[in-house]
Amino acid sequence: MRPIIVPFFISHQGCPHQCIFCDQTRIAGAAGELPDHEAIRSRIAAYRGTAGGNAVEVAFFGGSFTALSLVDQERLLGPLQSLRERGEVSGIRISTRPDAVDGERLAWLRRMGVYTVELGIQSMDDRVLSRAGRGHTAAQVVSACRLVKDAGMVLGAQLMPGLPGDTPATSLASLREVLALDPDFFRIYPTLVIAGTRLAELYRVGEYIPLSPADAVSLCKELLKTAFRAGVPVVRIGLQPTAELESEGGVVAGPYHPAFRQLVEGELCLDLTRKLATDLPRGSDVTIFCAPSRVADVAGQRRGNLETLRREGINVASIIADPAIPRQELRVEAGSVSRRGNLFTITSIGETHLVN
Ligand code: SF4
Repeated sequence: MRPIIVPFFISHQGCPHQCIFCDQTRIAGAAGELPDHEAIRSRIAAYRGTAGGNAVEVAFFGGSFTALSLVDQERLLGPLQSLRERGEVSGIRISTRPDAVDGERLAWLRRMGVYTVELGIQSMDDRVLSRAGRGHTAAQVVSACRLVKDAGMVLGAQLMPGLPGDTPATSLASLREVLALDPDFFRIYPTLVIAGTRLAELYRVGEYIPLSPADAVSLCKELLKTAFRAGVPVVRIGLQPTAELESEGGVVAGPYHPAFRQLVEGELCLDLTRKLATDLPRGSDVTIFCAPSRVADVAGQRRGNLETLRREGINVASIIADPAIPRQELRVEAGSVSRRGNLFTITSIGETHLVN
């Protein structure tokens, strides 16, 4: 059973930097103070009430946890200790900057129950990091990742394709360099131009052009496939929608979509269907079998995949949800031919001829 995550957004607290893309207020959806003891306990109690027996984990997202003062870090983790002892909280996650961790701090965090550290890496290209105003280098990322792994903790890696100076090639190279550091999971956030940031100003004067939605989807497909082949899950693609992001003018430009991941996985389904339907007689009716949770991806948003395939001469007569099919596979049947394929390698992994 997957744990229930109790999120606390600690906003810009603790961060002395000003990355050009960052307005933590809008991204995290909260501008306020750090949550106090009572707020932490009552939110956990509320989540536990609906957890239905699942384990409950606490996550401090946003900001840079380890750049907070020690007093503040203790103030946030302290109320969780008795809950951990009683088994009411099974683990704690934090996110932070690569240059804000050291071995001593990580050892203390572990003792306090933190077992997952997500690093805001964004890029492994020093020129991209510099132009983004990150204030750290790729070498510091390497060192931080090693420290987290050496501390026996789970390492999450956040990447941000599409920053100024970034290209699809440097994005892919960044992901590969991080893969060499043995991350346990990725989050991929295509760069958005958020109101009130320096990036918005660069965009306004024509010095920054964000990825188009189509290019962002295409790049994220490649990143997702590369991570999948390396056996590392991508747990999120695209920022979580917040009221601030969805408000008028909140996102000035860039590939924002509240269901961005579905766009990416929908295109993977389209690519694989095309591949599996190659050399079928044009115009023959095709049936696609997929895991039940894949049906919407196969159809595409507003059934766009089916329309695209139809224009290409592939008539999808039906999509059949089949619980026996793994989520990463599709099966395509047309006439007497049945082909299976993998979404993350876009390859056929088997063909059978049906006997009527
Ligand atoms: S380090 Fe994180 S919190 Fe600080 S400015 Fe950059 S993105 Fe924002």
